[in-house]
Amino acid sequence: MSRGGGYRLQATMRIQDRAPLVDFPPETQLSSFLDSAVIRMRRSISLLALAAAAGCASTSATSAAGHAALSSGSRAQFSSGVLAAQPDASPPGVPPELQAIKQSDLQRDLYYLASDSMKGRRSGTLDELRASAWIADQARAAGLAPAGDNGTYFQFWPLRRIRTSGRSRVLLDGAPLVLWQDASVVAPVEANEELPLVWIGTASADSIAHLDLRGKAVAAELLVPSRPPVSWISLRMRRYTSSALAERTAALQRAGAAAAVLVSDDSTDGEFIRSSAYQRLGSYADDSTGRGAPPARMPVVWVRRAQLQRVAEARRLTLDLAAESYSYPSVNVVAVVRGTDPARRGQYVVYSGHQDHDGVLFTDAAGDSIWNGADDNASVSVAMLAIGRATARHPMPRSALFVWQGAEERGLLGSRWFVAHPTVPRDSMVAVINGDMIGRNNPDSAALLGVQPPHLNSHALVAAAYAANAEVGHFVIDTSWDNPRHPEGWYFRSDHLSYARAGIPAIFFTTLLHPDYHTERDEAARIDYGKLTRMTRWMYATGWIIGTADARPDVVPGFRLER
Ligand SMILES: [Zn+2]
Repeated sequence: MSRGGGYRLQATMRIQDRAPLVDFPPETQLSSFLDSAVIRMRRSISLLALAAAAGCASTSATSAAGHAALSSGSRAQFSSGVLAAQPDASPPGVPPELQAIKQSDLQRDLYYLASDSMKGRRSGTLDELRASAWIADQARAAGLAPAGDNGTYFQFWPLRRIRTSGRSRVLLDGAPLVLWQDASVVAPVEANEELPLVWIGTASADSIAHLDLRGKAVAAELLVPSRPPVSWISLRMRRYTSSALAERTAALQRAGAAAAVLVSDDSTDGEFIRSSAYQRLGSYADDSTGRGAPPARMPVVWVRRAQLQRVAEARRLTLDLAAESYSYPSVNVVAVVRGTDPARRGQYVVYSGHQDHDGVLFTDAAGDSIWNGADDNASVSVAMLAIGRATARHPMPRSALFVWQGAEERGLLGSRWFVAHPTVPRDSMVAVINGDMIGRNNPDSAALLGVQPPHLNSHALVAAAYAANAEVGHFVIDTSWDNPRHPEGWYFRSDHLSYARAGIPAIFFTTLLHPDYHTERDEAARIDYGKLTRMTRWMYATGWIIGTADARPDVVPGFRLER
């Protein structure tokens, strides 16, 4: 392991040598870790690595003072220029083991990986580790060799989480608000103070300029944000709410307030349960520093509409807010099928996807509390297993590297870690074929990103994807989401980004958003398995073109992203 922090393998460590239960937040129980999936895995892969990782989780409770349409970026447009630039790119053809990619395998694997027993695979929980162990086991069975750290399928890396402690209290005139029910702490912070509370209601930022709010807590209603998100954007109310919270917070901060109590308006109140669930999770980062304190910031308490009267009448705010910090392992699963050509096997075609999702958040009206992440991103996780089986049966001249990245949902953290600490030389990765959500929407349409400037970073890679689509995928390709002016900023929301930033040719396959995106309804039964099979074959065929070409794909000189 290149930089594993506390997660170095320790041959002498056994699970029972530690008392790790107190080190995990309540949602990660060792008993669930030791379920049948892991016990089965024990027979075949390195449990030692997993055990070491689980045992090494540590807590430091830091408690200070109390605590489409542009798809005319079409094939013709690209391939003419591209093929001229790469005359010896190998003819596309159909890869030899296309039929080895079977719908029945994909369906079986996806139902398992997205089952309730995986509990939504949130990073920093044992559920992500369990899912990763299962993937490694499947990769081994498929004939892929380990390519993680220390001869294992795993690259463990330290994930730092900071969240608001359950001991935290917020009181109005001495009477508590029930956290996560009446009120949410918007971001973890340490605060232990009693402040005079001033109510400004719906007064605008301008109209409070004459008030002396310095050093006081200010209570205000949330207002419509000055630039509300467009009506059709994904997760619109979450974005709307965070804009409303951020704008009000910024205005009060400018006015010198020491703390803010923000009361929902009618529209943001409907978002309270969902958004506060994420606020309760806290913040995540890869942890190379070992520092676990939250940044100093103004405490912001978001209160439900039903408490409006109480907040408006209160004169005193008591904050007893503490932050807790955890460092636990997340993991990338890394496997390889070695190339057949001695001259090219030191170069890698990388298949990339993330295995984590959002976990267990809250119980909806139908009684479901598990964000299964079937499309996002069990779909690509199982596609990579299928591509691995096909590639193992008939390897390419170049090697194929498979990287299942952890903690993508927490900010592309696993891919960032892998690119910073690759288990093969960074410049030996000739192309990254990343997928995220490939099993939904119209059966005949798909999207490609990384195909037009400024996101395009390899003409040959784009040409390969289009050629493979012509031979295998037969999708109508939507590249409009690759437009830098697209409001979703979709290019910036999956793991290819980490590789592209490092100058590695990278492309992103997806079948885009749907109303079940990042909800408890993203379930295996809603996947179009025929489409998933075609998408998997398309990604496989794209990699085959790159893996068999004489020359490695070009890198667009001066590649520079808009953000
Ligand atoms: Zn995803």
